[in-house]
Amino acid sequence: MAVRRRDGIHIEVPAGGGDGADGGGADGPGGAGRTFVADASSAVGDVNVVSHAHADHTFSRTPETVVCSAATAALVEARTGKSVPAYREGTDEVTLYPSGHVVGSRAALVEVDGRDRADGADRRYLYTGDFSVRDRLYLEGFDPVNADVLVMETTYGEPDYRFPAEDELQAAIRDWLADAPDRPLFLFGYSLGRAQKLQRLASQATNRRLVVHDAVRTVNDAVESATDLSFPAETLAADGGDPLAGDEVVVLPTHLSRTDWVTDLVERHDGLKAGFSGWAVDESFRYRGGYDVTFPLTDHCDFDELVATVRAVDPEVVYTHHGFDEAFADHLATRYGYDARPLLGDQTRLDDF
Ligand SMILES: [Zn+2]
Repeated sequence: MAVRRRDGIHIEVPAGGGDGADGGGADGPGGAGRTFVADASSAVGDVNVVSHAHADHTFSRTPETVVCSAATAALVEARTGKSVPAYREGTDEVTLYPSGHVVGSRAALVEVDGRDRADGADRRYLYTGDFSVRDRLYLEGFDPVNADVLVMETTYGEPDYRFPAEDELQAAIRDWLADAPDRPLFLFGYSLGRAQKLQRLASQATNRRLVVHDAVRTVNDAVESATDLSFPAETLAADGGDPLAGDEVVVLPTHLSRTDWVTDLVERHDGLKAGFSGWAVDESFRYRGGYDVTFPLTDHCDFDELVATVRAVDPEVVYTHHGFDEAFADHLATRYGYDARPLLGDQTRLDDF
């Protein structure tokens, strides 16, 4: 078999199971193998997994099989305007598990028949997608499952990235919201994920009017139609006069934090800007976003949670990608003796697993 990182993560299984002896991967002389592709912008696999609705999944051709949750299919459609081809929530070989990242997010366990292998044993590949093990507001954290090969995201795979316990973190955010001066509070987070959690925290902490940017409203609507969650908030008027009376809580997408119209609005009302991300443990995050205050509220694991996940999955091999992929693989190898390597772009790992 081979695990590759190209456009998405590719797991290639030769015909007859997991024996990679011919070294040819899925297209090798062994004949018709299968390729499982996860989170690619173009669906080129025999089975295509969409772990969650963050990436842009455009599907350049109609794939045979798309595996994702119903909520992810609904969110992708709402966000991109493109329809997800007939999807399934699992196959004989692929089982989805809630990954605790955002609404609808799933990790995928791929189980391959090992009949033709020397030892005859089946092989289990776990692809985490983006994940968090923490229970947070309306989301349950990822519960690791056992696998032989673990392909994991390592966004915060450095020891500097250790975040406070979730209850402490949420209490600190609520305290700040409750005690802030009577001026608009501008909260910045990704439209899908952080933005909904910020709305929840704001309505727990204060009775101020809650206003969201249109991009957040679109995601709210999609989440509401795909789940039994609700996010009551007004939509920020796009034009025609001043949209704020003066003491609202305004939730906006992170990428707007430095735009001119937001800067003008904040200045006009002498508002306060708050940024929410795991990167908030770096001082530079605050300056880059022009924030008055930041909190390390995240939808990813911190360093210790990544390590704990590996130990719970107990794999033979770990492939890391995103963020501190090399440093984290190195840590797993030297500290815990795992066979762990980063999946660098366009590199192929051929192994007999
Ligand atoms: Zn994500």
